[in-house]
Amino acid sequence: MTTAPNALQRLGRDASHLPGAPLASVRPADPEDVVDLVRWARRHRVGLVARGAGTALDGEAVTLEGGVVVDLSGWKSIAGISVARRSVRVGPGVVNADLQAALRPFGLFYPPNPGSADSCTLGGNVGTNASGPRSFAYGSTRRWVRAIDAVLGTGQRVRLGSLAEKRSVGPDLLQMFIGSEGTLGIATEITLRLAPRPEIRQGWVVPLSSKTRLGPLAGGLARVSGTGLSAVEYLDAFSAEGLRSGRGARWRSGTPLLLLELEAHDRKEAHARGRRIRTVLRTLAVRARPIVFADADDLWKLRGENGRVLDERVGARVREDVAVPVDRIDALVRRLRAISRRERAPLYLFGHLGEGSLHPNYAVDPTSPAAERIRRAVWAESLALEGTISAEHGVGRLKRPFLEAELGGPALDVLRAVRNACDPDRILNPGKLYPDERSTSGSPSRSPSAGAGGRAPRESPTAPARPEAARRPSPRKRAG
Ligand SMILES: Cc1cc2nc3c(=O)[nH]c(=O)nc-3n(C[C@H](O)[C@H](O)[C@H](O)COP(=O)(O)OP(=O)(O)OC[C@H]3O[C@@H](n4cnc5c(N)ncnc54)[C@H](O)[C@@H]3O)c2cc1C
Repeated sequence: MTTAPNALQRLGRDASHLPGAPLASVRPADPEDVVDLVRWARRHRVGLVARGAGTALDGEAVTLEGGVVVDLSGWKSIAGISVARRSVRVGPGVVNADLQAALRPFGLFYPPNPGSADSCTLGGNVGTNASGPRSFAYGSTRRWVRAIDAVLGTGQRVRLGSLAEKRSVGPDLLQMFIGSEGTLGIATEITLRLAPRPEIRQGWVVPLSSKTRLGPLAGGLARVSGTGLSAVEYLDAFSAEGLRSGRGARWRSGTPLLLLELEAHDRKEAHARGRRIRTVLRTLAVRARPIVFADADDLWKLRGENGRVLDERVGARVREDVAVPVDRIDALVRRLRAISRRERAPLYLFGHLGEGSLHPNYAVDPTSPAAERIRRAVWAESLALEGTISAEHGVGRLKRPFLEAELGGPALDVLRAVRNACDPDRILNPGKLYPDERSTSGSPSRSPSAGAGGRAPRESPTAPARPEAARRPSPRKRAG
């Protein structure tokens, strides 16, 4: 256990701007240690926040006042790689990129590749249902988890899921756990599904005109079969500047970019697929010659430069993460720009175009009232276009006021019931995800002053009145 202020300052926060103030950080040695910790926390009403690498962006991994960090970053076992089963067992602290490296000699790979792959852990990826460019073809973390061994907030050990490839046994508790941001249980081992690694994986950079309509481009690329496309990404002109620092940057400054990943089993297939993609692009009025990287990973490394350039030139900012149906992307972009004009906050836009998933970044102090107005406006516009408030980063602390607007009251009640069944004392990641949980301290609702360092609850300074969108009928009703 550590209580050293320097360590706690680092471990109590994540990649959001939100401050954390944990009491202590512990590194459990094994699952039985986690059971003991949960039992202790229940007795003393102390909050526990499971932590991987702390790269979450919405306060999912921030440890609020009085809570204890459960640091799982040391759980790095990679075992049971099986080509026949296409699966592997990992500790929750294994870094995503380290798993990819371990799988390479077996001709296998784990498809979800978030931009933070060099640092984020698989426990955190499960916690947030992370995804990356390849989710265009392969989907998010959900699709690639077979089973999870976990300790629930009751202190009981469970295995969710099964090692079988196919399964139809009631509502799927495993899927409920994925994306639950450490509020139902703490994963102690994760069995992942793997995919065969294609022989060829090219990265394409296609310069776009600033007038290119993004919705038809995304829809057009998704409609055509036989292209082998596994990623369809977009960067606006400013965000694309970061990529010019790397080798192979042969496009003009100030050009928005389309980035593609093409998979094939051999050169002949790659050639045929490449020809098909060029034809589709021409029919979509994209005429610039693509620049082709033989290894797509080089392109994704280069794409990471986008974040560095934004950090250096823009600094702290609002970093959002919404998605809409692909035919609504251009409407979303217009509304995002209108928010930028209204708030006088420059907008930088990039994302996973093929899935209608965009990351609007606004150059504004993320702690300011303007930032709060911008976030709410972005979420409301996305919901109004029948989209979602989070495509991949999660809900955490920042987005929880809008959860009911997205889910509707009855569905949120079901989620609360699940939470209560798994964690009756609400000790796991208190103050996150569920909008009406009052506790922000380590001391959930029942006994605010009891236990180790508990303090009186204090609602979020940014907690809103019921958001505009929450007053609309639920999405399902609207669609009907
Ligand atoms: C530069 C950058 C780029 C990013 N790019 C992407 C991207 O492309 N796609 C994407 O999806 N995200 C992205 N993210 C966000 C972040 O990396 C992901 O959400 C990632 O999944 C978090 O992993 P982590 O190990 O840092 O988890 P943490 O931040 O430590 O935790 C995240 C959540 O998971 C829970 N958790 C952690 N471990 C466990 C466990 N063992 N059991 C149960 N719950 C647990 C935590 O309590 C918390 O709620 C990016 C972040 C940064 C900083």
